Amino acid sequence: MKTKKKILECSICGTHNYKTTVSQQHTARLTLKKYCPKCQKHTLHQETR
Ligand SMILES: [Zn+2]
Repeated sequence: MKTKKKILECSICGTHNYKTTVSQQHTARLTLKKYCPKCQKHTLHQETR
């Protein structure tokens, strides 16, 4: 199965904090609650294009 790389960025400060791979069939936009070291708290992270 083919996968593609995604970068997750903090929706508050825009820092790129996490990398993940998803199936190419996956089209929905990922949003995950993750810890942001810059904001020093858990924030919503969304994938970049
Ligand atoms: Zn942040």
